[in-house]
Amino acid sequence: MKIAFHASPIMLAAALALSAGCTITQTQHARAVRTKQTQSSITSERAVAMLMDGNRRFMAGHSIRRDWPAEVHATADGQYPHAAIVSCMDSRTPMEVVLDQGLGDIFSVRIAGNVVDEDVLASLEYAAKVAGVKVIAVIGHSHCGAIKGAIDDVRMGNLSTLLEKIKQAIPSGQGGQTSKDAKFVEEVAAANVRHSMKEIREKSPILKQLIDSHELWLVGGMYDIDSGRVEFYAP
Ligand SMILES: [Zn+2]
Repeated sequence: MKIAFHASPIMLAAALALSAGCTITQTQHARAVRTKQTQSSITSERAVAMLMDGNRRFMAGHSIRRDWPAEVHATADGQYPHAAIVSCMDSRTPMEVVLDQGLGDIFSVRIAGNVVDEDVLASLEYAAKVAGVKVIAVIGHSHCGAIKGAIDDVRMGNLSTLLEKIKQAIPSGQGGQTSKDAKFVEEVAAANVRHSMKEIREKSPILKQLIDSHELWLVGGMYDIDSGRVEFYAP
């Protein structure tokens, strides 16, 4: 089954255009203190472009050489992040690293299979409504163990409950497949991102209002653990 992402919409193209103007050779970074005002000046498309820029730096081996103690000092008085990322707990997928973001830049919500439950929704509502992020990104990844576990109907303790959430993303009529079918695993991973985005829209009136009024962008993406690339999608 082909996953019907509405890929490459105008808004992501605009973010990509913003991103394309950025150098990837920067290696040193003097951290400016971010304020509510500087956060407000960042548009949603700029926020996505900042994530894209970071991933390009990471892939090129040109991640910013950060002065971490200086970033601690610069962010001690408050946080004004531009994005919230929902991603998997997989040890190979730390979003701050693969998107080359510093302290105070992103909220990172990590949970096996990047599923969305009420606690994740609560965290995102805080990030968007209170802390003012401009984009929420749900980012799945290739070769995801949680996706494979859902496909193989693994049952173990509390994991069973979590995997049930991922099973909702498995296309109906697709019984019989196992995680040995690599193409199917990636299809379910993509569908699972889309399902989590749907959950965010449908189960949080607060986030839906912010998204519908264009104060907040909701985007999806997939991290390729073979290449280090994050490809962004739109709802
Ligand atoms: Zn995973």
